Amino acid sequence: MFDERLPVHIDPLRMAETGRLLEGRYAIADLERLHDLLLESSGEVVVSLEFGIDAEGIRYMKGRLQGAVPLECQRCLQPMQAPIDSTFALGLVRSIEAAEKLPAHYEPLLLEGDTLFLRDVIEDELILALPLVAKHDESQCIEVKQRVAAAVKRNDYERGEDKKANPFAALAALKSNSNT
Ligand SMILES: [Zn+2]
Repeated sequence: MFDERLPVHIDPLRMAETGRLLEGRYAIADLERLHDLLLESSGEVVVSLEFGIDAEGIRYMKGRLQGAVPLECQRCLQPMQAPIDSTFALGLVRSIEAAEKLPAHYEPLLLEGDTLFLRDVIEDELILALPLVAKHDESQCIEVKQRVAAAVKRNDYERGEDKKANPFAALAALKSNSNT
């Protein structure tokens, strides 16, 4: 098991030099900018972070965010838990010039001092990881269910009409058609 509490402040360059791994959770209720975008502030996100120096000497912070966030389904407008599972790779830089030199697989994280307020960075990444359009799985979406239910009802109704009709009359009609 891992310590569920992530440090408030970190020294990311030092952590890159020592190749640290960090894992923990944030309650969505503690991420104010994020939960302004959500239906409610329940749930939590699991954060896994890896710090290191790559073959080109770039100090990085890579991470994976997993969890589910409450959003409104854009099909049925009911609340849903939208799954989040996203990764990011940040190149740790101290200047705009260094940021511009980063290879494309890193997003720059411009450091202003030695310490970083970790939650802010993770919150930014979570906001980027939100689905643009949240929709239930088809099997769970009320609108899809209602459409299916309506189709089933229509079928039953049509079958019901058939039952009421005299089957012999239908047969007779068929016969008289084939005779002519
Ligand atoms: Zn839905």
